[in-house]
Amino acid sequence: MSDCLFCNMASGEMAVPKIFEDDQVFAIRDINPRAPVHTLVIPKTHIPTVRDLDASHGPLLASIFTAATAVAETEGINESGYRLAFNCGDDAGQTVYHIHLHVLGGHKLGHEG
Ligand code: AMP
Ligand code: ZN
Repeated sequence: MSDCLFCNMASGEMAVPKIFEDDQVFAIRDINPRAPVHTLVIPKTHIPTVRDLDASHGPLLASIFTAATAVAETEGINESGYRLAFNCGDDAGQTVYHIHLHVLGGHKLGHEG
């Protein structure tokens, strides 16, 4: 078992309901939702923060955003609107150091920051 929560979910060592999955990413519902819909799109490969991304990750980023669109559709927020957010580092409140895209919606969201 890895010491990374999301690597353990990706490998299947930690069982979690996946609401979307393809060869590069999966999506889960956040355990502590801050909106009526709060899901996380997570790459299967371990990348600690968005600071660690470079041009070679272009196809992976396309997969992450394509998955977010699919999740928004299946969660019923595609038309009403939603927010996509990556937290990076302490001031942003990042708690899991394996990148993940928050997909938030289902009501009017407050301003960022
Ligand atoms: P961040 O604060 O941006 O690093 O986001 C990490 C997110 O992971 C938080 O919103 C947590 O609520 C969520 N989280 C932590 N553990 C779990 C878990 N076991 N299942 C689902 N979501 C989780
Ligand atoms: Zn990881």
